Amino acid sequence: MQLYQEQILKITNSLSGKKEIFRPINEGHVGMYVCGPTVYSNVHLGNCRTFMSFDMIFRYLRHLGYKVRYVRNITDAGHLVDDADEGEDKIAKKARLEKIEPMEVVQRYTVDFHYILDQFNFLPPSIEPTATGHIIEQLEIIKEILEKGYAYEVNGSVYFDVKKFNKDYDYGKLSGRKLEDMIASTRELAAQSEKKNPQDFALWKKAEPQHIMRWPSPWGDGFPGWHLECTAMSTKYLGETFDIHGGGMDLKFPHHECEIAQAEASNGHSPVNYWLHANMLTMNGQKMAKSTGNNILPGEIFSGDNKVLSKPFSPSVVRFFMMQAHYTSILDLSNDALLASEKGFYRLMDAIDNLKDLKTNKLSDFNVSEWRQKCYDAMNDDFNTPILIAHLFEAVKHINLIKEDKEKITTTDKELLQQTMNDFVFEVLGLEQKTERNQDSNKLQGVVELLIQLRNEARSNKDFATSDKIRDQLAALGIQLKDGKEGTTFSVS
Ligand code: AMP
Ligand code: ZN
Repeated sequence: MQLYQEQILKITNSLSGKKEIFRPINEGHVGMYVCGPTVYSNVHLGNCRTFMSFDMIFRYLRHLGYKVRYVRNITDAGHLVDDADEGEDKIAKKARLEKIEPMEVVQRYTVDFHYILDQFNFLPPSIEPTATGHIIEQLEIIKEILEKGYAYEVNGSVYFDVKKFNKDYDYGKLSGRKLEDMIASTRELAAQSEKKNPQDFALWKKAEPQHIMRWPSPWGDGFPGWHLECTAMSTKYLGETFDIHGGGMDLKFPHHECEIAQAEASNGHSPVNYWLHANMLTMNGQKMAKSTGNNILPGEIFSGDNKVLSKPFSPSVVRFFMMQAHYTSILDLSNDALLASEKGFYRLMDAIDNLKDLKTNKLSDFNVSEWRQKCYDAMNDDFNTPILIAHLFEAVKHINLIKEDKEKITTTDKELLQQTMNDFVFEVLGLEQKTERNQDSNKLQGVVELLIQLRNEARSNKDFATSDKIRDQLAALGIQLKDGKEGTTFSVS
């Protein structure tokens, strides 16, 4: 008997807007596709939040006993600067600016992506395909869509005919838009545009002579449109219809809407049973984004080398902070929120440490089986990690009471409690208990704060020789002090 046979999982399907019971196409197996990063820059913490939400979902599905094929792609071509069909390719642009090969850009940022996700303790996906590795599959889909009459060729480029498609299917069903409204609210097509309608999108773009990333096609040299790679790779590895497709909320339109249109136009049926959308990480109330500069890199958080936070935070603390919000809610990053998460994280880790040494008794004051089911109920309710964490803290309360001899626990209950804590804290939430490192970093923080205090005293006594000595010798050890409005903070390089 597998856990998925006794636990009823419900997930919010963006397609219906409802919470639905999850029933995979093939019993015991789940096919899940998540749109991966465009590897032209370092991943910021916002990108990490979306991938972390799906890492948690992947982990819980596996925990339930499903055999999950998790495909998360790498976009290494076709994503244009304005996210639509105009402008330079993001990767080609970076290559031009840095005077390196596009594939050097791709390699550099793919390595960074993997390194960061590894620090956050992500599980690797089952397959991580690239857009450039699937040009042939993309060309096949374009031919299919052209044959079925839902695309047209103009001057070496191929565009998807949204109006034509909408006569037979429903363009806009995922994002709740109507094509008529979209048409009514758009400006006239620019005179030079090749498209029949502004809503049409590129399946294939003709490569101008200066465009380096190009492939031969029946329509001349060019490159695929951004939306096409996900249709090609999800179909290839998961089939024409698969269970779960995920991505950030910002990809719902147009990217996912276009994926549905491409798949329906070529295969004649809907590609995905459950669409899942993860919500955004904000900072100062604004979406974290590469383009606006309102972002922070994970490495800057781990080292403390940033202008937003007062001290470094470990990957597990940041992960715990993310898990304290539901994946469909907006989450705002702030120093206070991270400090609170850090406190909670250590309280949880201390309780897990103490659990090992708890004395057992003939009786239990804590109904562990009932509590365990509450943890499952939380996760079964659309992966509700904040509720799960509230239940974990209920266990922390009992562990502390048992430790103080104010409550009792039987051996069987203690074992079940240890097993359940282990399952949810480490396996499902993906947190790591690097106790020694944590204790060391707590000690380091205490020592540096003491030195900051001594430096402040020296400065107020106008003893600048001492205050400079403290700053310079800490710097020589790789610890930088930063004086700001809120006082002095530090980072470790
Ligand atoms: P990109 O590399 O721009 O294609 O983005 C990779 C993923 O990060 C996509 O799934 C986006 O939806 C997601 N993403 C971008 N910004 C944020 C943010 N501020 N919060 C959460 N996810 C984000
Ligand atoms: Zn995609």
